[in-house]
Amino acid sequence: MIAKTRVITAASITVVAVMLYLWGHSDGREGRPTGLIGESFAAESPPALSPVNARVRDFYSPNSEDLQPDEMRLIACGTGMPTARPKQAASCWLLELGNGDKFIFDIGTGSAERVAALQIPYNFLDKVFLSHLHTDHFGDLDALFVGGALAGRQKPLRVWGPSGATPERGTKYAMDHLRKALTWDLDGRQGLTDPRGYHIETTEFDYKGMNQVVYQENGVTIRSFPAIHSLDGPVSFSVEWNGLKFVFGGDTFPNKWYDVYAKDADLAIHECFIAVPDMITKFKFTPQGALAVGTQIHTAPEAFGKVMSRIKPRMAVAYHFFKDFDTTGAINDRIRTTYDGPLSLAEDYMVWNITKDDIRVRLAIVDEDVWPPPATEKPQAPDPSLRIPYSVEIAGGRLDVHDVIQPTYDAINKEYGLNEKQE
Ligand SMILES: [Zn+2]
Ligand SMILES: [Zn+2]
Repeated sequence: MIAKTRVITAASITVVAVMLYLWGHSDGREGRPTGLIGESFAAESPPALSPVNARVRDFYSPNSEDLQPDEMRLIACGTGMPTARPKQAASCWLLELGNGDKFIFDIGTGSAERVAALQIPYNFLDKVFLSHLHTDHFGDLDALFVGGALAGRQKPLRVWGPSGATPERGTKYAMDHLRKALTWDLDGRQGLTDPRGYHIETTEFDYKGMNQVVYQENGVTIRSFPAIHSLDGPVSFSVEWNGLKFVFGGDTFPNKWYDVYAKDADLAIHECFIAVPDMITKFKFTPQGALAVGTQIHTAPEAFGKVMSRIKPRMAVAYHFFKDFDTTGAINDRIRTTYDGPLSLAEDYMVWNITKDDIRVRLAIVDEDVWPPPATEKPQAPDPSLRIPYSVEIAGGRLDVHDVIQPTYDAINKEYGLNEKQE
């Protein structure tokens, strides 16, 4: 496929996408061909290959490329379903801007490990925007909140999300009660770690707001508008910065607000569900359930195509399906009955580099053996006086291992000039 594509690299994005579809629509990898968009291949003879010099990579390796001042980079950290699986976490999108700002849109079940794999210091990952409160869109918030604070976020986690039809269905209620559910976890960390990251600052906004500004800082404007999904409450977001526009639909039935406010986006994400026949045979839905969930609560592939044909983004991104060799073809074929523009069928670790002139799509290759990234500020040493002690009964059950641990204390005290003592 690559060899074929190189022949047509001078063609427009649309033509490339259509031709790649024609060539590749049955091999289950339709999301990938767009990775070739924007790469320029000389029509003349190729440069001589060197036996010793590196060649340009065709994948994205985290922390190996500068983000240019006029560039947006989007990384899919979750593209799947409420039932997370090794191949796909649930909805999560990291948007990085050339001005240094980073925003996480949704933090669905399983996605925190994808975020971790990017090795970005957690102080840079303090802003989360929730499209709605299904667990496949915020189920890993606790992992980002606690794990991020433990690994170098030295400031509160800021969360923006919609209200609901009642206070109990709003983001503030969810965050307050998530914080309460973590009482034991957070109490147990007192006096052992830098405490500054263990706070959530919630901004709840009206879910019915029409293209309302919910964030405006540093030249970035983020707006919300309603989505139609499950209950009142879900929203979609748009981000405008530096003449570029990114839209994240969250979950929604096709709606007239997305039709207006997502128009002419540089990159537009909209959900696209599994084709109904595959929901029945592979996901074990009843036919009635598959029709209702796959076409009425969510957006069917044909309807996704119709939406994108109307708003005409520079790049349409479909997500919210299990992307397998035997499901992707049906989704792509159905989308292509109603849309012939540029298309990415998203999977985890797909990466889009967006500038005014170009949209490059690749996959990231990550190191699974990641450790916490460097902290941007010196951590605060813990204050042991804040520790909550064990009860007498529990403390009395400690086995005496002082003798075998003391050499470690001696070595660390000597190396770092400390005088720490065992409990
Ligand atoms: Zn949902
Ligand atoms: Zn969902």
